[in-house]
Amino acid sequence: MMDVNQFKDHEQVVYLNDKKTGLKAFIAIHDTSLGPAAGGCRMWKYDNEVDALNDVLRLSRGMSHKNAVAGLKLGGGKAVIIGDSRTEKSEELFRAFGRMINDLKGKYISAEDVGISVEDMEIVAEETRFVAGLNKGEHASGDPSPFTATGVFLGIRAAVKHKLNRDSLDGLTVAVQGVGHVGYYLCKQLHQAGARLIVSDINQEALDRVATEFGAEIVGLDEIISVEADVFSPCALGAIINDDSIDLIKAPIIAGAANNQLARDDHGQALMDRGILYAPDYVINAGGIINVAAETRGAYDQGWVNTKVEKIYDNLMTIFERSLAENMPTNIIADALAAEIINKARKA
Ligand code: NAD
Repeated sequence: MMDVNQFKDHEQVVYLNDKKTGLKAFIAIHDTSLGPAAGGCRMWKYDNEVDALNDVLRLSRGMSHKNAVAGLKLGGGKAVIIGDSRTEKSEELFRAFGRMINDLKGKYISAEDVGISVEDMEIVAEETRFVAGLNKGEHASGDPSPFTATGVFLGIRAAVKHKLNRDSLDGLTVAVQGVGHVGYYLCKQLHQAGARLIVSDINQEALDRVATEFGAEIVGLDEIISVEADVFSPCALGAIINDDSIDLIKAPIIAGAANNQLARDDHGQALMDRGILYAPDYVINAGGIINVAAETRGAYDQGWVNTKVEKIYDNLMTIFERSLAENMPTNIIADALAAEIINKARKA
């Protein structure tokens, strides 16, 4: 079912059904008050166009919030390609998608997301310059994961300062769910800071690596959420905070990289009621988009990226303090902060 409220605030939504290449895609531009609408492209086997449209509307709104709080001069947008990313990719399909982006004349800037690789985006980039997240070329920013991990590490430090009134992570225990790209780099920084690590993953090789290199203790997939720890750091799956899991969490802090950690918005209130401090996902995991955004400014500038990533600590502190002062959950405060930044830019 299509809920018309989903269109609230969107500036433009484009649908392309390219009969020649088979490309069926939506691009949603949520808001451009701060700058061009930026957000990745997802390729997914949606059951129908309505599901794809619902997803692109929701995701593009999320990108507006994320880019605004990260302090980027970028609005929010997103694209979805309807199709199976394992069997339905072709050069012609991505070229057609590139031309679709180009027709928007820079109002939307794309990058890779679920189901899309850097190699796919390199084909897109042959048809349009409004693409970021590339590995090659003068503006290329490379793998965003280390920047995401640094932002999460700083976010954990901010949460520990706010909740436990501690400046150091030395001797604290952090439970990391998922030690893939971001999780690995995060474990490295936590280990260097003297934290004890408990980890889980479905990939034994990834687990062995963090156990050997950082002395991490390995626990089962269902155990990680309920272990005794100072911080629970979800770095694998979305919707990990849900009706079934919420009462199992023992850590007083949740701070991790995974997108869409709360199954529903009201789980933010439920965490607050239980005295658990939640670092809103799109604020703490913005390091990657900050790194990708560097490409939209011209030649890649590492100093600019580092300054913006370091600001994640302050952004979270602001949210934590406002949450306490206004007695509102941190996820709601983050959305309010994003709306304030966007409205100010709109008026200006
Ligand atoms: P990744 O695929 O490299 O790592 C995810 C890890 O989680 C993998 O090792 C996988 O085996 C593991 N995993 C899968 N199911 C699991 C389960 N049930 N329990 C425990 N582990 C499980 O992905 P990534 O790039 O490290 O991203 C991690 C999360 O952070 C994702 O939610 C992603 O959307 C989000 N994120 C990533 C970036 C980035 O820069 N890569 C930026 C923002 C947000």
